[in-house]
Amino acid sequence: MSSKVVGILGGGQLGRMFAAAASLLNVKTVILDVGDDAPAKQVLNSPHINGSFKDPSFIQQLAEKVDVLTVEIEHVDVDALRKLRESHPQVEIHPSPETIGIIQDKYRQKLHLQVHLGGANAPLGLFQQIDVTPDDIKRVAAELGLPLMLKRRTLAYDGRGNYVLRSSEPRDITAAIQFLCPNGGGKGELYAEKWVPFIKELAVMVVRGRDGNVASYPAVETVHKDSICHLVWAPFRTANVEQDPFIRANVQRIAQEAIKSFTGAGVFGVELFLLASGEILINEIAPRPHNSGHYTIEACESSQFDNHLRAILGLPLGSTKIKVGAAGMLNILGSNRLIQPQPSKVSFSSDPLIDKLTHVALSTPGATPHLYGKAQSRKGRKMGHITVVGVSDAEVGERMAGLLSALADFEH
Ligand code: ATP
Ligand code: MG
Ligand code: MG
Repeated sequence: MSSKVVGILGGGQLGRMFAAAASLLNVKTVILDVGDDAPAKQVLNSPHINGSFKDPSFIQQLAEKVDVLTVEIEHVDVDALRKLRESHPQVEIHPSPETIGIIQDKYRQKLHLQVHLGGANAPLGLFQQIDVTPDDIKRVAAELGLPLMLKRRTLAYDGRGNYVLRSSEPRDITAAIQFLCPNGGGKGELYAEKWVPFIKELAVMVVRGRDGNVASYPAVETVHKDSICHLVWAPFRTANVEQDPFIRANVQRIAQEAIKSFTGAGVFGVELFLLASGEILINEIAPRPHNSGHYTIEACESSQFDNHLRAILGLPLGSTKIKVGAAGMLNILGSNRLIQPQPSKVSFSSDPLIDKLTHVALSTPGATPHLYGKAQSRKGRKMGHITVVGVSDAEVGERMAGLLSALADFEH
């Protein structure tokens, strides 16, 4: 289909599912990440590189071996990618290093979206840069109100770079600074967002072809627990069913407009907030396949991973239509009841919660478990997911109920 070899920065579960999709078209992938047994390296027995995807010399090594470079994580060394344009001009990079650079800094990302999506009318909540000083945080809390969402600009995931400031008391502000900037914090490390009183969180996967054309998957509802994605419902529905088609069209339009404003090809995950008024605000964008799009593997005519591959190789994009009545996805997160594996017998599953949910999934019609092959489980770590499909929301809800009650039994 394509004789091009694709290099992936990052060897986690997204790289694993991407490499599996590439294998269906005989496309070779080379993974750059530390460790011989990174999840993505287990998919195919091809020569990978053991090294950090943040290290420019390893990125150079990867570039020697491939025709197209892509990422499964945005926290990469963008300058090293830019330099490849001179040292390895034949290697295409998707999405572009500029796009990754803007998105990896959440504050720059917000400024970019503001400029490209209508200035003061852009679908964004209020946000402001802050200095990491009690005085400045107090000033912004007075301006944007409480609670106030404080965020690290870079290297955030699963809510780990966020802090909800609930009062302007000096000790609360000090606690926020200590949590977000344990090393003191310099200028430009944090920014603040006005609290968004959303009624639902939504997400849309958008695929951007090399020609800049975009197509989007259905808007889904994401349910977070402790700031980590817990469940996805596809397509999303509200209690006000008559309004849904309008909200759906609006959400997809906003997500597509946002992704049109970037450069380079690939899929992007757009996270949004739905307010009680029906207003939609963008939360953040990921320049890669996204947890909220895993359901597309079983539920859509082409998966997010298939379309990411097609986009970066310039192949015809696949249909983004949902091909089942409805779908749900449950993340399998590591528990705090780990069984230490015997050193001589390294097993993937040292976590009884993973075994339990997988067994329930195997006897649930329409359910497909995906385990990521991570050797070590940890509380809250994404170890796998289960997709459930059905003819209707009601059927998916019933099928998911067995999994949710197994999870609740385990937790109590
Ligand atoms: P991800 O794993 O999705 O990359 P992240 O660490 O980048 O997460 P955010 O997406 O910024 O974190 O925020 C995590 C969650 O916190 C959101 O999904 C939402 O539930 C909540 N949240 C974020 N920003 C706001 C806000 N301004 N107001 C209210 N809640 C918010
Ligand atoms: Mg994020
Ligand atoms: Mg997020």
